[in-house]
This record gives sequence, structure tokens and C-alpha cells, in this order.
Amino acid sequence: MFESLKNLLKHFTGSEEKTATATATATATSDPVLAPEPLPASVPDGGSQKAQSAAEEKVVQYITLSNFNLGLGSIGPDNRDDIDLQIVNEMYQAIAAGLFNIPVRGAVPEICVDGRTNKDGTRIEAPCAAGGTLSIVYGGDLGGNSAAADINEMQLTTQTINTLKGKGHSTGVHGDDHGSCGCGACAKAPTIYQHIAERISDIASLVSQLGINLTDSEKESIVQQAKNRLSQADFFAEDRGAVLQTACGAGALYEELVGKHNELGIALNTKTGTTVDRSAIRAKYGPQYDMFVVDAWAFGNAAKDINATGNEADEQRIAKAITLQNVATASILGHGSLRIIPIA
Ligand SMILES: [Zn+2]
Repeated sequence: MFESLKNLLKHFTGSEEKTATATATATATSDPVLAPEPLPASVPDGGSQKAQSAAEEKVVQYITLSNFNLGLGSIGPDNRDDIDLQIVNEMYQAIAAGLFNIPVRGAVPEICVDGRTNKDGTRIEAPCAAGGTLSIVYGGDLGGNSAAADINEMQLTTQTINTLKGKGHSTGVHGDDHGSCGCGACAKAPTIYQHIAERISDIASLVSQLGINLTDSEKESIVQQAKNRLSQADFFAEDRGAVLQTACGAGALYEELVGKHNELGIALNTKTGTTVDRSAIRAKYGPQYDMFVVDAWAFGNAAKDINATGNEADEQRIAKAITLQNVATASILGHGSLRIIPIA
């Protein structure tokens, strides 16, 4: 499945040069990926019309959450007045070209997609998914098809971390310097389950543009599991920070990220063994230029290692559920203007 994602993204990036130099009309193909909504005419910096339209032409090659009616949150370029659209475009192109990829230790998601850094300006160099290890907890739960109603989120977190540790993996979660649960994927986990249950068509439609197709029965199974958990009394902990504490108690590393969210896009990385260097992006473009980083190449590894049945279909469904959890988290926290920048 992730090979197909990679192939599709190659096609994606292969067509970049053509679309970047083509006229606006030429890019308006019937393919919804290549013909997203044009950007609004007004941009915050009030730059010249000419520079503006050149920037728009380049940027429209990337899909946005709003192309799929997603993006209910506030984080995104349209809500910012401290950025330069030209620089944002340059940053997208450089990220897509893999210029910020760095090697990581580890083969499964461990740290969060969050674009912020620790106080010293760095992050643990490990694969990223929404919530760090919690992405595997939630994806494993949604995709695992377990009818067990006698387990709650905290127990599932401990269980998943123990399984991952048993396979030699490092695990991690994060908070921040000002909230009781500074990880949106954790704080909003019930809302994210709800979003998957209610908006599976839109989310699956985005995912299919990336080359990952869900069958009707996979969708039904994942939606049903989300509904089961939402209706299971006390599955989700009332105190969201306690979930992070439980993870740390089970051995997860903890990052305390600082400051506010400045993410301007979602880097969707399929280069095995790498992640995107957030510090290097800031060093090049400025401290207010951040990206969410999704290391999709690691999802299949995680699904394989936490699949309790050893059954191939279950493994596939878990990998897809991890993908859905990542997209749904982006949609709940992020604004529709967030662009998805593939790195193949
Ligand atoms: Zn987080």
C-alpha cells in the first residue's frame, strides 16, 4: 500500500515542473488534485499583482484540506499575518524536493507531527505521526477490529507501548509549556474519533488521492469501532493529560514543546528512514515558519508490529486506520488552507 503511495507521490512530484511552468488554464485539468480551488485574490502582505499570481500559480499544485471539505481548526496560512506568501511557496518547493530530510533512528512513529520544538530548538530525531506513539494506540484501536469493551484508553496505551518495547522500539509523547495536555492529537482524541465516524467519505477521499484506497468493509469496520468507543462508558479519559502521564509511566519519552502553533502545511514524507528537520526550516525561513511532519513510510511498520492476529488483512486495515487518524487530526486542528506537501 505504501509503495503505491510512494509511486503516486513520484507521479505527483514528477508533474510539478510541468504544472509550475504551465499557464493557469493548462493546469485546470479534470483531475481534482491538479485543479484545486484558486487561492483567494487577497493576500495579507499586499504584494504586487504580478508577484502574487506567480506565487499562486506555483502553490496551487498542492492539495489543501479544504479541497476535501476538511480543516475545521484554525492552524494554517490563511489565518496568519506574519508570513510572506512567496517565502511560504519557496519553503513548500524545498520541502517537496527533500532538501530538509534528515535520517532518523527508529522504524515506527515515535514523536508527534507537531511543528514546534523543545526549548533548545530541537526535536528527537524519530519518525512522526499525530500524537507520536499515541497514533499507533488510536490507529491500532480503530483498525484492529477488536470487540473488547473491557479495555479503556489508558490500558490500551500501556498495552501498545509494552508491545512496541517488546519489539525493540522506542516510544514517545509530548506536552507543551502552557497546557495541561499540550498534544492536540491526545487532547482531542474523542473529537477525532467522532470526525472519523462522521466524515469518513471526505477523509477517505483525501487518502485515496494519495494512492491509499479503503474498501467499503474497511471503512465500515473503522467507523463502527470509532462509534463503539464513543459509546463505551469511560473509554476516553476525562483528564487528557493523564493519558500522557500513563504513556510516560509505561516508558514513553516525553518532549515539552514550546510556544504557539505556526504550522503552514503538512509535509507528507515517504522517504524511508528519514524525517523533516524543523530546526533547519526555521533557520532558513524564520522562526514563524513551521510545518506538520507526517512520516507515512513508518505506518506500515507500526501496523505490522502491533497486529495481534498476524493476519494480513488486519495489518492493512491498521495501517490505513493510522493514516485516517493522522488526516482526521490534521482536519480537527488545522485550517482548510493547510497544503499537503508530498516528499517522495
Ligand atoms: Zn501532538
